[in-house]
Amino acid sequence: MLFLLTNDDGVDSPGIERLAFRLSQHGEVYVVAPERERSAAGHSITMHKPIRARYKGEPVNRVKVWETSGSPADCVVVGIFDLLPRKPDLVVSGINLGPNLGEDLTYSGTVSGAMEGYLCDISSLAISLNTFVDPDWETASIVAEEVVKSAVELDFLVLLNVNVPNCPLFRIKGFSLTSLGKRRYISRLSKRTDPFGRPYYWIGGVLEEIPPQEGTDVWAVENQMVSISPLTLDLTDYRMLESLKPLVNKLEANFLPR
Ligand code: MN
Repeated sequence: MLFLLTNDDGVDSPGIERLAFRLSQHGEVYVVAPERERSAAGHSITMHKPIRARYKGEPVNRVKVWETSGSPADCVVVGIFDLLPRKPDLVVSGINLGPNLGEDLTYSGTVSGAMEGYLCDISSLAISLNTFVDPDWETASIVAEEVVKSAVELDFLVLLNVNVPNCPLFRIKGFSLTSLGKRRYISRLSKRTDPFGRPYYWIGGVLEEIPPQEGTDVWAVENQMVSISPLTLDLTDYRMLESLKPLVNKLEANFLPR
């Protein structure tokens, strides 16, 4: 078994170290991760400057660690197409410090690392821990290990977004297959003034308190269940294909020469 690990918290973050250690007991592990934190990097790739990769060694159990100057998606591309000896069996991104739920997935560097693996036809998992303070890496890495062990046995391609509640292992109530819930922010932009009198902006709001819908990822982690959301990269809104027919008919009637 060959695993490619990446993240967006940076190569030295405890989440990826714990994950690498656990997975090294089940196969060969390559860590290819950003040299610095790239949280909220989204699915960005570096196209207009070089990407540098530096080998950092084998800290534990023959885990091979590389850092790159690129984004999580860049790391996956560089790993798959050059650094790894062959195509990995699974790409795992994480374990992220902080949840990746609902609409936040569109910003997520963690999830984008997994998306890139999936685009390369490799089953891929994003794993996040639902806290920013006092992370229980022990629980998160044990859960991650179990999910990975099950995922590698599937005989079809998957892209899974996993969120682990931050609590001791015995408090976890189970595993829940979920859809993406709603995450909305209020007061998301602050405008301030720098010491030279010029305005600047700071993005980062407070979450709107909306009761989570049952069956969603937000609901699962709030109820101390491990959330597993299967994702697809087809962003089409299929309901709209029907609803927007009048709009297209109108455009055709008004703009096409008869
Ligand atoms: Mn992060």
